[in-house]
Amino acid sequence: MTIARSRPQEIMSALLQNNLSMPIINRDIYNIREQLRQQNLAGRTPIQALINELKEEDYIYEYECDSAGCVVYLFFAHKESVNFTCQYSSVLLMDCTYRTNKFKMPLLNVVGITSLNTTFYSCFVFMKSEDEEDYMWALTHIIHLFEGISKPGIIVTDRELSLMNAFKPKFPKETEDGSSSEWNTFLAKWNEVVNSETEDEFNKVWQTFLVNQKNEIDSMVAAKRIHFPVFAHNNQFYANVRGKVSSFALKKINEEYKKVSRATVQNPLPPCSGSFSRTMGLPCTHHIQHLENSQGLILEDIHMHWWIQG
Ligand SMILES: [Zn+2]
Repeated sequence: MTIARSRPQEIMSALLQNNLSMPIINRDIYNIREQLRQQNLAGRTPIQALINELKEEDYIYEYECDSAGCVVYLFFAHKESVNFTCQYSSVLLMDCTYRTNKFKMPLLNVVGITSLNTTFYSCFVFMKSEDEEDYMWALTHIIHLFEGISKPGIIVTDRELSLMNAFKPKFPKETEDGSSSEWNTFLAKWNEVVNSETEDEFNKVWQTFLVNQKNEIDSMVAAKRIHFPVFAHNNQFYANVRGKVSSFALKKINEEYKKVSRATVQNPLPPCSGSFSRTMGLPCTHHIQHLENSQGLILEDIHMHWWIQG
C-alpha cells in the first residue's frame, strides 16, 4: 500500500479490518515506511541515490562534493528539457523551494515558457544553502544550457536577494520579480515529485512528469499550428504569418489591432511608451498602425519566442 501511495491512516484501517485486536498505532506505520525507504536507498544518501539514477537515465548533470565527500551541489536537466530550453530560450522563471524535501537541500527550479504561454521544466539545482556563492554555482551551470544560443532576455524570480545579486554578472540583461498562476501550478506539480516518499515512487512520478511534459507540448504545438484564430482568417493583415506564430501571440496582437481600428482623429492612440513591444516581443498599436498601411504583419515583427518551430 505504501507503493500505491496510500496514507498511513488508510493502511491502518486496512490492517485493523483484518485483525481488530492488532496492537498497532499510526507511529508504527511511519516507522516501517522509514525502514523501507532506508532499505531502498541501500546505505546511500537520497542525493547520492538520485545521482545514480541520473547516470542511468537521459540526464545531463554536474555535481560537487565537499572534503568529506558529501554532495553540496547538484545540477541536472533532462535531455528533452535541454531541447525545450534551446527552443524557447527567451524567458526563464527561477525560484527556490524552501519547503523541506527528501534531499534536505534547497532546490532551485528553473522553468521556461513556450510560444503558447505554457510552462515547461528546464533544469534543477540542489544547493547546500541559499547564499550568493550557491546561486553563482547554479547560474554558472544553467548558463551552459545556452551555449551557442542567446541567453534569456527576461528572467523572472521571487525576491530572493542573493539570487538577484548573483544574476548581475551572469545575465546583464533584464531581470524581473514576479509570480504567476503558471508558476504556482508548476510548483504544485513539482512538490508532488520532491515529496515522494520512496525512490520507486519518486522515479514513477518523475517519469510521468517529464513524459507528460513532452507529450503535452508536442500535441499543443501541433494543435495550435492547425488552429489559426478565426479573426485572422479573412484578414490580409495576418496572411504572412499563417501557421508560423502561436495563436496566443496572435490574440495579443489582435487586441492591439482592435485599438488601432477604434482610434479616431478625436480619440487618437496614446503616445508610444515602447513598453508593450519591449515586454511582450510583439508589435504595439503604433507599429501595427504603420504596418497596416504597408505590407501587413510579417514574421520579423514578432519575437521568435512566439514562432512555431519544428
Ligand atoms: Zn507603441
